[in-house]
Amino acid sequence: MSLLIDLVKKAKGKPTDKVSDALYRRRILTCQLCPKLMITGNCSVCGCFVKDKAKYVGESCPLGKW
Ligand code: SF4
Repeated sequence: MSLLIDLVKKAKGKPTDKVSDALYRRRILTCQLCPKLMITGNCSVCGCFVKDKAKYVGESCPLGKW
């Protein structure tokens, strides 16, 4: 999935740099404790799949939690 997301980001001229494993785990834990995370794995605020979104350096939580 990351490869496809990387291609879409590159096509849009956005960076594809990834965060460290430790930072990724912290982001995911924050989402797992957040009431905005839906059972589907999407954030109900931005609609993104957090397991994909949290990998990227250039992404951030829409509520400023990470
Ligand atoms: S991205 Fe932010 S608002 Fe969305 S589920 Fe994660 S912590 Fe919650």
